[in-house]
Amino acid sequence: MNAAADEYLMPGGGASITTLPKISLHDHLDGGLRPQTIIELADAIGLALPASSPAALADWFNEKKDSLVEYLKTFDLTTAVMQTHEGLFRVAREFVQDLGADGVIYGEIRWAPEQHLVRGLTLDQVVEAVQEGIEAGVDDVRADGGDIRIGQLVSAMRHLDRGLEIAELAVRHRSHGVVGFDIAGPEAGFPAGRMREAFDYLASHFMPRTVHAGEADGIESIAGALVDGRAMRLGHGVRIAEDIQVAREDLDNTYVTLGPVAQWVKDREIALELSPTSNVDTHSFAQWGDELVDHPFDLLYQLGFRVTVNTDNRLMSRTTLSRELFVLAETFGYDLTDLAVFQLNAAASSFLPLEDREELADQITAGFENA
Ligand SMILES: [Zn+2]
Repeated sequence: MNAAADEYLMPGGGASITTLPKISLHDHLDGGLRPQTIIELADAIGLALPASSPAALADWFNEKKDSLVEYLKTFDLTTAVMQTHEGLFRVAREFVQDLGADGVIYGEIRWAPEQHLVRGLTLDQVVEAVQEGIEAGVDDVRADGGDIRIGQLVSAMRHLDRGLEIAELAVRHRSHGVVGFDIAGPEAGFPAGRMREAFDYLASHFMPRTVHAGEADGIESIAGALVDGRAMRLGHGVRIAEDIQVAREDLDNTYVTLGPVAQWVKDREIALELSPTSNVDTHSFAQWGDELVDHPFDLLYQLGFRVTVNTDNRLMSRTTLSRELFVLAETFGYDLTDLAVFQLNAAASSFLPLEDREELADQITAGFENA
C-alpha cells in the first residue's frame, strides 16, 4: 500500500510524534494526493502535467503557493484527476492510508463534491465513490495493525450557488459517512450569509457545521460564520486575533482585552482549526508577520482558546500532522503535555457522537501517557 510517513521526533530527540495518536479535523481531499498517483491518473485520462517525475511534481505544487492565483491552479490539477469513480476511490483510499501511517486515529476529510462532476458523475455518486475509497483505506490501515476512523465533511464552494443542494447532500449521506458540512473557496467577498438558506436547512436537520473564516478575511467574516453559518468550528479562524488587544505595560504587567467575537469564540469553546504551515503559505496572519513565530497560535493557546492543529493541504504545504506538531514544538517550545491538549481539543470538537469523542479522548490520553 506504499504508505510510509516521515517520522518526526520531539525537538531534541524525544518521543516519536508520528506514533502518538492524533486527530485531523481540517484536511482537504484534493490537497493531499500522492504525486505518483497524480501522474498515473493523469496518464489514464490523457492530461498533461507540468512535471513528469513525482519529486519534480511535488516541487511544482510546493512552489505555487506564493501567489493566490497560482495556488488555486494547483487545485485545478488535483481535481482534474478526481472526476471518475476510479480516481476518487483511489485518492480517498490512499489519503486514509497516509493518515494511518502518520498516526492519525480519527480524521475528518473535507472536499467539495460539486467540483467533481466534470465527467458525468452525480453528486451522490461522487460521495459514494469517496466513501468506498475511505472504507477500503480504513480496512488497509487495520490490516496493517493500525486503527483509524474517518468522517467526510462536504464543502460547498462559497462563490458558487449550490449551497442548499450540498447541504441536502450532506444530510442525505449522514448515515453513510458524512459527519458535517463546510464552505470553502474565496472568503473575501463571499460571506457565510450568502449560504443562509443552506445553513438554516442544516440547523433544522441538526447537521454539524464548520466554516472557513478568518483565513483570508477578518472579524466580520468570522462573525458571519458564527451568526449566519451557526458555525460550531472555524476553518482556521487565525484572524480572531484581530479582536484581541494586548497591552504590555512592562515586563510584569500585560493586559489582554477581548472583543465580543473573540470572547464568544473563547467562552463557547468554538474550535479553531489552525493549520500553521498553510497559514504561513497563504499569509493569513500577515499583519503580525510572515514567519511561524509570528503566528497568533501561541497567544490563542495561552488565552485558553480551543486550538487544534491541522494540515489543510498536505501536498501544497508539503507537510503532515506530525510535522505540524513538530514545527510548533520547535517554534514555541511545546512539550508532550501541550501536544496532548491540542489532540484532546480536537477530540472534543470532532463531529462524532459524545461517546465516540470520549473514546477518542481516552485513546489519546493513554497514547500520550505511554510515550
Ligand atoms: Zn481549508
